[in-house]
Amino acid sequence: MMIAGEMDLRDLPRICPLVSRRAELRTGEPKTRVVVVGPVAFGGEKPVVIAGPCAVESREQTLAVAKAVKAAGAKMLRGGAFKPRTSPHDFQGLGMEGLRILREASLATGLPVVTEVMDPRLVDTVAQYADMLQIGSRNMQNYPLLVEVGKLGKPVLLKRGMAASLCEWLGAAEYIAQEGNLDIVLCERGIRAFPSGEYARNLLDLSVIPAVKAETFLPIIVDPSHATGVAEMVEPASRAAIEYGSQGLIIEVACEQEGAAPPQCDAAQAISPAVLWRICGYVEGHAEQSTRKKAHAV
Ligand code: PEP
Ligand code: MN
Repeated sequence: MMIAGEMDLRDLPRICPLVSRRAELRTGEPKTRVVVVGPVAFGGEKPVVIAGPCAVESREQTLAVAKAVKAAGAKMLRGGAFKPRTSPHDFQGLGMEGLRILREASLATGLPVVTEVMDPRLVDTVAQYADMLQIGSRNMQNYPLLVEVGKLGKPVLLKRGMAASLCEWLGAAEYIAQEGNLDIVLCERGIRAFPSGEYARNLLDLSVIPAVKAETFLPIIVDPSHATGVAEMVEPASRAAIEYGSQGLIIEVACEQEGAAPPQCDAAQAISPAVLWRICGYVEGHAEQSTRKKAHAV
């Protein structure tokens, strides 16, 4: 029986010829594309740790977190100025003011910054402040937005839609690639499944990491914060992701500031700089082991 909309990974070289590894193999492209963001390289020798607040809430909070994540060993800063919130009555982010704060935090620490863009009309504006543009889970299939970030040519962090198959995810990457931009880093951030919201926010799909590596040359990183929604699970989820071959992590961090209120957004999944420091240590150690294994193999 034929089903309209049926998808099969075997069709990927035809559906997504620009990002499919199997289509790419015919032209002898490299095994992984290295996506460079300033001093950072995704898909290079070492997994990249991105960290920062969920949302930019104030100048003080953002600068404090940025300095703390740098000291803990993160190589890139994250933070939302435009927040996709379920309720329009919740904090929506500081918008333009948030972008200015992010740039200041980036300059103060030397860490390149990734932030989400939700509106195709704001792509150029956000790009003036960010080193990498994030397409959030809710917008993975916002095709006009994908086309705009593709045209811009800046590196893109493409999060997996919360109910997206691998074919749909790579199809979204293909829209960006079609505009001539192959600087795309994929990000697994947990998918909707029956336990969602019961004991974890989402289901971290570790199996998709090797599958992505088999199907595309684009690097893949993991967001253990939105995948679990539970601060205590972020460290083990990070280690598991690295073991599965993730080429980086994007993690939400909060600093306990005396007298300050907890984060307005995703407080339950924010880890402390001390836990981030342990995760960065694990990532460094793992990278060293891989280099040793490679050296031993030749
Ligand atoms: C985020 O990283 O700020 C975010 C909103 O994540 P997601 O799009 O994966 O829900
Ligand atoms: Mn968040």
